[in-house]
Amino acid sequence: MSTVIAIDGPAAAGKGTLSRKIAETYGFHHLDTGLTYRATAKALLDAGLPLDDEAVAEKVAREVDLGGLDRDVLSRHEIGEAASKIAVMSPVRKALVEAQRAFSQRSPGTVLDGRDIGTVVCPDALVKLYVTASPEVRARRRYDEVVGRGGSADYAAIFQDVKARDARDMGRADSPLRPADDAHLLDTSEMSIEAAFQAAKSIIDAALSRNASK
Ligand code: C5P
Repeated sequence: MSTVIAIDGPAAAGKGTLSRKIAETYGFHHLDTGLTYRATAKALLDAGLPLDDEAVAEKVAREVDLGGLDRDVLSRHEIGEAASKIAVMSPVRKALVEAQRAFSQRSPGTVLDGRDIGTVVCPDALVKLYVTASPEVRARRRYDEVVGRGGSADYAAIFQDVKARDARDMGRADSPLRPADDAHLLDTSEMSIEAAFQAAKSIIDAALSRNASK
């Protein structure tokens, strides 16, 4: 059986960087499930299809290739916005969750990050982490990232976006963003990525050694 590490949290909390570092450290496969919603949204946008037709969106979701998810192409802001709109549709979620669950079974282990991994996709994960940070800190990190890449950004607009995305992700009826009851909370507001990684690593190492002695 595959060892699954589930990492959830709001946008820009640092879970992407953390998940990649964890996957690399333990030699596990990594899936950023946000990219599956983004790829579905991009395919709809590219084909000029509507974002509010569940049957069309479900069909497109079933065709998403988990092997062809390009983070650079899919990271655009408009795609993230469109993704969070189609992510409220249950048939879309059902299609993508099936593909995500199949991925989670890969050997020797997997790290999946998203919004509903510990609660819905992999409720039996060995370790569940809920990574968060205050909206101000998350908006600041997003702002620094854009400016760091040489772009121009408006902090107030980014802050509003972060809050709007949270409201949509936490307020939807199907699989809202929330920590699983057995998740470990990691608030990274005042933590470096290295400190967050060390905290996550101790939790994972403890769970792996408990599991090995069973
Ligand atoms: O994490 P990322 O910003 O790439 O996700 C884009 C959108 O996809 C999120 O705002 C959320 O609405 C949706 N999503 C989701 N469930 C997941 C991952 C992402 O609903 N497991």
